[in-house]
Amino acid sequence: MNTDTYTTILLATDFSAHADQAGRRAKDLAERYQARLHLIHVVEEIPLYDLEEDPIIPLDIDLDVERAAQARRQLDRLARQLGLEETPREVLMGRPKSEIVRYAKAQGIDLIVVGTHGHAGLARLLGSTASAVLHAAPCDVLTVKLTGDES
Ligand code: AMP
Repeated sequence: MNTDTYTTILLATDFSAHADQAGRRAKDLAERYQARLHLIHVVEEIPLYDLEEDPIIPLDIDLDVERAAQARRQLDRLARQLGLEETPREVLMGRPKSEIVRYAKAQGIDLIVVGTHGHAGLARLLGSTASAVLHAAPCDVLTVKLTGDES
C-alpha cells in the first residue's frame, strides 16, 4: 500500500440526520487525493424466527428484500445530493461493523470514512459502529464529527 496517499476511499453511511456531513468530507478527500470513492449502507437483518424456527410474525413479503430496495433508493438519493451519481455504491446485509470491515478488505480500501456523534463533556464517546470499525479496520479510519447531532 502506498502510505503517502489514499487511492480508494469508502464512505459507510447510516442515513442519519447529519450523515451528509461525512459524505461531503469523503467527497472532498476523494477529490484532493484523486481517489476512487465507494458508498455503502448495511441493512441489519431482523431475526424473523424464534429458537424453534417458528416465524415470529407472519409475513407475506420478504422484508429484507424490501428493506434492501429502500436502502438502495436512499443511497441513490444521497449520491445525487452529493453530486456522486457515478460513484459505485452497494447495499449489504448483515452487521454494520463486520460488513464495513469485510467490504474494506475485499475492495482494498485505504481510508474508511464514518460519522460519529459528539457527546458533551467527559462522555465524548464514539458510537459503537464507529468504534468497532476503528479497531478492526485494515486501514485508516476517519470519524467525522457530525455537528448538530446530539444523540
Ligand atoms: P454509530 O456508531 O452506530 O453511531 O454509527 C457511526 C457511523 O458508523 C455512522 O455515522 C455511519 O458512518 C456508520 N454506520 C453505522 N451504521 C451503519 C450502517 N448500517 N451502514 C453503514 N454505515 C453505518
